[in-house]
Amino acid sequence: MKQKSLEDVRLFTVMAAVKQGWVLNADQGFYDILAQGLCDNFNRYGYFLCPCRDTDGSRLADKDSICPCLWSKSDIPEYGHCYCALYLSQNFVDSNLAPSSIPDRRYG
Ligand code: SF4
Repeated sequence: MKQKSLEDVRLFTVMAAVKQGWVLNADQGFYDILAQGLCDNFNRYGYFLCPCRDTDGSRLADKDSICPCLWSKSDIPEYGHCYCALYLSQNFVDSNLAPSSIPDRRYG
């Protein structure tokens, strides 16, 4: 399996944000931690497992937790950002609020 670089991850997140109409977290230090987590997960497991979630041990079991996760589609309209706060809605960015901890729908 070809390893991903941080630049690969950056392009992946930019493309995901553009496709979904989301905005990447502009806090560069925070973004870098999440990007590193995505990179490490890809290179360890072979898929972009959410950097804020544990693995259940298989791609099939984790399929809903592959970034952008299933729950981001509900979390971003409802809370303004995904569980990790990697992706935000434009409305949330415009509000100048800071992302906060939100419930994890994975086990909800
Ligand atoms: S919570 Fe955010 S970073 Fe994590 S998988 Fe979902 S969309 Fe990606």
